[in-house]
Amino acid sequence: MHDDCIFCKIANHVIESDYVYEDDLVCAFRDMNPAAPTHVLVVPKEHYETIVDGVPAQTLAAMTHAIDEVAKAEGISESGFRVISNAGPDADQVVKHLHFHVLGGRFLGEGLLAE
Ligand code: 5GP
Ligand code: ZN
Repeated sequence: MHDDCIFCKIANHVIESDYVYEDDLVCAFRDMNPAAPTHVLVVPKEHYETIVDGVPAQTLAAMTHAIDEVAKAEGISESGFRVISNAGPDADQVVKHLHFHVLGGRFLGEGLLAE
């Protein structure tokens, strides 16, 4: 756990948040500045900076499972959703702890870069 990392604190309940799903390896909580009716962040409890920071396969599988659980809980499995993970400056990654944005609940646009 990194003491200066907000997502380490939320994922390990040092700071509480609005959780949607949790297991031993990951948790999912609502983004504080939602861009869609469903905007949930899936994060590992261990600290990794990005998706390519040596994340164990078991953790990646747990993140995929969490996305599925979030989609089911939010009722967007059939309507669809978008998963985004920003890595580095050109992607405007603000929080340097790996996270998947899970967005849904409305039409998100046609293009890859649509909001
Ligand atoms: P990034 O640009 O790093 O991919 O996005 C970080 C996201 O984390 C943003 O959408 C922002 O609203 C969200 N966020 C940042 N700090 C907090 C926080 O303390 N609590 C919650 N729930 N979301 C946060
Ligand atoms: Zn962290």
